[in-house]
Amino acid sequence: MVSTNGRISGGYRIGIIGAGSSGTYLANLLLQQGHRVDLFERAPAPRAEGCGILVIRSGMEALQAGNPELCQKILKAGNPVKSFEFRNLRGEAFRSHAVEERNDLLPRILIHRKDILEALLETVPEDCLHLNARFESAMQSDRGVVARFQDGSQWEGDLLVGSDGIASKVREFVVPGVKPFYLGDIVWRGITRDRQFCKEGQFIVYTRGRGIYANFFDLGGDRTHWGFFIEAELDESEAGKPRPNNISLPLQELAKLPEDARNVIASTPPEQIACRYSYDLDCLPQLYRGRIVLVGDAAHAKSPTQALGMTSGWEDALRLSHHLATRADIDEAIANFQAERMPIVHEYQRESREMSLKIGRRRRRSAA
Ligand SMILES: Cc1cc2nc3c(=O)[nH]c(=O)nc-3n(C[C@H](O)[C@H](O)[C@H](O)COP(=O)(O)OP(=O)(O)OC[C@H]3O[C@@H](n4cnc5c(N)ncnc54)[C@H](O)[C@@H]3O)c2cc1C
Repeated sequence: MVSTNGRISGGYRIGIIGAGSSGTYLANLLLQQGHRVDLFERAPAPRAEGCGILVIRSGMEALQAGNPELCQKILKAGNPVKSFEFRNLRGEAFRSHAVEERNDLLPRILIHRKDILEALLETVPEDCLHLNARFESAMQSDRGVVARFQDGSQWEGDLLVGSDGIASKVREFVVPGVKPFYLGDIVWRGITRDRQFCKEGQFIVYTRGRGIYANFFDLGGDRTHWGFFIEAELDESEAGKPRPNNISLPLQELAKLPEDARNVIASTPPEQIACRYSYDLDCLPQLYRGRIVLVGDAAHAKSPTQALGMTSGWEDALRLSHHLATRADIDEAIANFQAERMPIVHEYQRESREMSLKIGRRRRRSAA
């Protein structure tokens, strides 16, 4: 039974496209509030691959505010950052600082993305999660939204949320024609066994020079995550592609790193290495159209320079669920969500792109 403000008894009917970190956390928060939630994921199994992630303090706070138990699980699975060290390409440390441990603040965490996704997925009942469900199109009417999927099935409800990442298909129904912006780097990332090079919560950065940049961090359990970036032009024919055809590590570029760092990368099993072009998004002029709302990377994908990606998706989830809980009218809640979040996420996008440009990534275009 639908009331005049769109709320059915038992909450709104909310469809979420994309079971990444943003969509899954949102599903959990909305379920806690009693909404009827369907989470659609195109992959046959939740996408639990990936590498290490730095979750900054505000990300942990966004989890703590919405689900303290989940926050504790992620704290347990992760490794608190204990120090940051900046080195030049000769391997000399020119800046370092220890991170102050404080009982009154949540720590920044170094963690495998898989551990985050597994903890998040445990919070969503099986019958909410629909795998092999590739979103194709959406249509709005007075009664709400209809989403159509590749297999011909459809879903109808009060609100459709696009949390389908940087190459979002849902975004086409909010702001059509947006193309990700190439940041000028190809990045390889991997996780390897290591006891010597990066340990005790260290986060090591080899600052950009000679067309490369690298970072290493200690995931705990003798595992080190690394990221290796090389500057490369993007051929027209490659525009929008997630990764180059040839994904083997460029040995000539790798040789620019000091030997100990290079050896950590070289020791990584090939199946533990991922490669992709680095993209972000320009600021969108709006985060919703009618009853379709965007959250996470679909709305504001950023370069990883500030480690704001996962955090900002969780903040979106928290605030959208908050507005839906406190406002009787769904349309007002969505508008309030945008009014609150848009200036914040635009600032994150500007900061992250600015930092990318400052440290030498593609300089030709000014920040969005
Ligand atoms: C190199 C690199 C390093 C990074 N490092 C950090 C870091 O240290 N800290 C940090 O906080 N962030 C980091 N990020 C960013 C972070 O990974 C992202 O911001 C975050 O994962 C975005 O989550 P999301 O759920 O919004 O999107 P995604 O994780 O992209 O999830 C989108 C989901 O939607 C699904 N999907 C897509 N299309 C469809 C469709 N048509 N139908 C159904 N399902 C669909 C996908 O399969 C996927 O599961 C990094 C990113 C990169 C590229």
